[in-house]
Amino acid sequence: MCAAKLVENVRQSFRSGVTKPIDWRIKQLNGIVKLVNENEQLLIQAVLRDIRKPKFETVLSELIVVKNEANHAINNIHQWVQPTYLSKYLHQGFDSIYLQKEPLGVTLIIGAWNYPILLVLAPLVGAIAAGNCAVLKPSEVSSTTSNAIAELLPKYLDQDCFPVWQGGIEETTEILDQKFDHIFYTGSSFVGKKVMAAAAKNLTPVTLELGGKSPAYIDKESNIDIVANRITWGKFINSGQTCTSCDYILCHEAVVDEFCKAVKKRILHCFGEDPKQSLDLSRIINDRNFSRIAKLMDDVPSSKLVVGGVRDPSERYIAPTVYRDISMDDTIMQGEIFGPLMPIISVSGHEEAIRIMNSGEKPLAMYVFSNNNKVVDDVLDNVSSGGTTVNDVLMQAAVPNVPFGGVGNSGMGSYHGKFGFNTFTHERPVVRRTQGMEMLVESRYPPYTDKNLSM
Ligand code: NAD
Repeated sequence: MCAAKLVENVRQSFRSGVTKPIDWRIKQLNGIVKLVNENEQLLIQAVLRDIRKPKFETVLSELIVVKNEANHAINNIHQWVQPTYLSKYLHQGFDSIYLQKEPLGVTLIIGAWNYPILLVLAPLVGAIAAGNCAVLKPSEVSSTTSNAIAELLPKYLDQDCFPVWQGGIEETTEILDQKFDHIFYTGSSFVGKKVMAAAAKNLTPVTLELGGKSPAYIDKESNIDIVANRITWGKFINSGQTCTSCDYILCHEAVVDEFCKAVKKRILHCFGEDPKQSLDLSRIINDRNFSRIAKLMDDVPSSKLVVGGVRDPSERYIAPTVYRDISMDDTIMQGEIFGPLMPIISVSGHEEAIRIMNSGEKPLAMYVFSNNNKVVDDVLDNVSSGGTTVNDVLMQAAVPNVPFGGVGNSGMGSYHGKFGFNTFTHERPVVRRTQGMEMLVESRYPPYTDKNLSM
């Protein structure tokens, strides 16, 4: 079926009103929970095949999160759909003034490969809860998972309302040519611009979940062992192919030696003497990304290597790698790394860290580690980012009732929990009055002669 026909069919389904009843929405949301529960092994194997993601990470960062999102929506939907009543002036005493929660209509959800289940199904929760239809476009780069989603979804969800459209650039371009009521895109800022340009042709609103270079600042007033544990986990989970990963580290010069030692020790603890043998490290998704990251490694002088630096193209394996004494001019600092390389830049204090963080585009995430609240507040007050966790990593993305999204170049709009529902909802203002009480409005009618409107 061509894209135009597919979207037309979905639009007919939406117009039929089938998505409106709350019970129907809950049934679909339960379908997502059931899909994940009944196909846990299949989904784990699909992601393992695509990116060799450890089972633990797939369950922790994809399956559990999707189920939490769906259950949170099931538990709260009755409250979310309620109109929001607004305050009134005295002369509106007989009116009801409220925001009606209206579904947007037919939406398009385009996912990325690095969390290939989560990035399609979590936005879908918001779309369903708000009463929309959605065409799903999983990433062709994680093709096994894309096929699994295409095969499983129709068994658990209404096929007419939630079809899966598979394919690469050509197919994505074709589907983007259609008219949607909202487009929800996750991926690079580069493609995000193409999505937004395609949406502009139909004045379609977009949510863009993009990436960027997300920094972490480590202050001297920190427990360095704990910081190293947390940053090592956040950097090397999914081998650095995480949008909220700490892309680079700004470390107070007084603790940089200690931090390098602690990270090295932690990597050894987590992944052993030869991390290639560890089952807890994903591989790089494809040869294109492998070559891109390999080139970044080749451009760093060996004198700056703290640990790692090993790679094997036959497996697309790259060891967890840490570099120190990196400067902002180095190639590794020119774009998002999206791989298991951790560049460390020494700074004289948080003021210099703030200057560096503000020299680039606004990132998706920013992390600050310090036991000094003044330092933390200074950084928070002076650096913008999509989200932040203080003294830990990634947590801002893990809670269903906290909005997740970027700012500036890292994206626009947000989702998760109620915020996902809001993203796919039009809050229509309604002023509802009776046909009575005409004397209250009579004074507004012409002729205006002899009527005095004082300001
Ligand atoms: P990707 O290659 O999977 O692309 C994402 C989607 O865009 C896919 O569905 C793909 O088919 C489509 N696409 C690719 N090229 C296209 C084109 N020319 N025209 C139309 N559609 C196209 O993923 P990626 O872009 O490599 O993802 C990595 C980036 O995504 C990183 O920057 C990362 O930080 C970001 N990301 C952000 C989030 C977030 O939630 N903010 C999550 C994951 C990844």
